[in-house]
Amino acid sequence: MGKQIDKVIEAPFVKEMMEVTQNMWNNYWDERNGGNVSYLLEEDEVKKYLDPSNVVKTFSLDFPVKDLANRYFIVTGSGKYFKNVMNDPADTLAILKVASDGSSVDLLWGLENGAKPTSELPSHFMSHMARLKQDPNHRVIIHTHTTNVIAMTFVHDLSPKAFTKTLWQMCTECVVVFPEGVGVLPWMVPGTDKIGLETAKSMEEHRLVVWPHHGIFGAGESIDDAFGLIETAEKAAMVYMLVASHQGGIKQTITDQELLDLAEAFHVTANPKYM
Ligand SMILES: [Zn+2]
Repeated sequence: MGKQIDKVIEAPFVKEMMEVTQNMWNNYWDERNGGNVSYLLEEDEVKKYLDPSNVVKTFSLDFPVKDLANRYFIVTGSGKYFKNVMNDPADTLAILKVASDGSSVDLLWGLENGAKPTSELPSHFMSHMARLKQDPNHRVIIHTHTTNVIAMTFVHDLSPKAFTKTLWQMCTECVVVFPEGVGVLPWMVPGTDKIGLETAKSMEEHRLVVWPHHGIFGAGESIDDAFGLIETAEKAAMVYMLVASHQGGIKQTITDQELLDLAEAFHVTANPKYM
């Protein structure tokens, strides 16, 4: 048993989870047990480090995820602190396999001291299903409490169009990094199937979905991709919070024509609904 655990900790995907959670905590995004990450793994990757027939525990799901049947994930644990993942991955992370009928998940490794997988599992799984339909290379969902994106939801219009446009205008790279824009949901109670369904619906069109007064959901083809997307939006929100509160106000910004020129130069299409 001890040997198997040591081997899993050496897996690149475990190291990536340790690093990304530490980075997010260092960015002041994930206070206490805030934030959660789920990362779709290939069976071959997992089998190098553990035997999938060795099931530690089974957790039933109250929402069906048939589209994810037999898929493997590494996720953060419910109530676990990002601050602690680096020092104790076997306590704070979980490697899961979704049952063949999509009604439960088997714990294959982690959560050594008896916790459950992240309470945002409905939002994560539904978002994975939505993104996989758009992009077969999709793999990662990150939820985090990005300080400036949260701050912006108190002082900015919450329509996805207005929110997206402002983010695009705050840093030149934004329209290139997320040309489809960002989704913005109404405020909802987290951890529920309802917010999961709404997040996933928005994820059909965007890889970033803002939860007002709470945080953000980001999707990507890798940990770096999802994290990079979130930090780009967070940087733009930070610039907005700096300039919008500046005594002199905003005197100039990137114009619509300049946004279109940027999109053309980088071969992306800025979502016409948000231009
Ligand atoms: Zn949260």
